[in-house]
Amino acid sequence: MKIRYFDHAATTPVSTSVLNEMLPYFMLQYGNASSMYSMGRNAKRALEEARRKVAYSIGAKPKEIYFTSCGSESDNLAIKGIAYSYKQKGNHIITSKIEHPAVLNTCRTLEKQGFNVTYLNVDENGFVSLSELANSIRPTTILISIMFANNEIGTIQPIKEIGMIARQNNIIFHTDSVQAIGNVKINVDEYNIDMLSLSGHKFYAPKGVGALYVREGINFEKIQDGGHQEKDKRAGTENVAEIVGLGKAIEEVYKNYDVYNEHLKQLRNLYISKIEESNLGAKLNGDRQKRLPGNANFSFSGIDAQQLLLALDERGICASAGSACSTGSSAPSHVLTAIGLPNNLANGTLRVTFGKDNTKEDVDYLVKSLQEIIPNIKIK
Ligand SMILES: *Cc1c(COP(=O)(O)O)cnc(C)c1O
Repeated sequence: MKIRYFDHAATTPVSTSVLNEMLPYFMLQYGNASSMYSMGRNAKRALEEARRKVAYSIGAKPKEIYFTSCGSESDNLAIKGIAYSYKQKGNHIITSKIEHPAVLNTCRTLEKQGFNVTYLNVDENGFVSLSELANSIRPTTILISIMFANNEIGTIQPIKEIGMIARQNNIIFHTDSVQAIGNVKINVDEYNIDMLSLSGHKFYAPKGVGALYVREGINFEKIQDGGHQEKDKRAGTENVAEIVGLGKAIEEVYKNYDVYNEHLKQLRNLYISKIEESNLGAKLNGDRQKRLPGNANFSFSGIDAQQLLLALDERGICASAGSACSTGSSAPSHVLTAIGLPNNLANGTLRVTFGKDNTKEDVDYLVKSLQEIIPNIKIK
């Protein structure tokens, strides 16, 4: 059976060009980037080339990029790194209720260690309020961490304005941009960003490699002890092959930005209009305009999303209820709760996230499948 993949917010396939760029670093140029002989120096050179590509893409300097093992590690390093480094100045952090668990659970750990965290509300479309943010700032606030775009409902936050508020109050601004990289043309200066997390497997690089951007002059503590890799901020032998893949992938998504964006928007808009015309009792979650180009999140009343996913799987369709990170738990997602969605709708939520290789024919197949499945599984 042909597989139709609509879960690019969970992960993406590695693109051929990315894999080809990585291959020599497994068996031919396998040197340790810290070794001084030529194979080590070649690895080091590849590492620094990847760093330049990441930096160039987001308008940063190469020395402001730190490679990590994933988006979750980047979030941990950013938030704990600032909390420990600035604890003399204050112990207050501001974030939102709809962050990824990598941010939320990091904040919860810090609360146990004596930090105070404000979790901002969001409105029914998933936006934080700039006035609530400004009113939450205290003399002890050391960090604001707000995600660029939400992984479940796709809402894109007013990042420039949030960054401006942080700057005016002399507070460091971190943004989890794991979903936004490749989908929004991010430039850290234009968006007033001080720290930014990204993860390779969300934009056609492999799983298990990420990066953290930290604006020059901001001091943060390392959270992993060991060797002096990554300017002594992240111990561990560099994963050269995957870092090379990350560099190639970010270069490609920036280069193809307009083409990919247009393609994703077309598929998403086609899907949204077809679902809304189908009379399936669907409610679109997230903002209609300010949302990720490939994201469509609908709640179907009277439907059990788990049952729907299984029926879709039988037809070769990969999609998700809420987010991949919350599967296994039956409680409605924290994001859907935060936007005020009642449980009966939250439980019937289907997240579809398109990627560069999806086609209009995929959309037709998906819509046709939903039209056949939903009336049959609707609780009467
Ligand atoms: C996927 C994701 C992460 C985690 O990235 P990993 O590389 O899987 O650890 C963090 N934040 C957001 C918004 C994500 O979508």
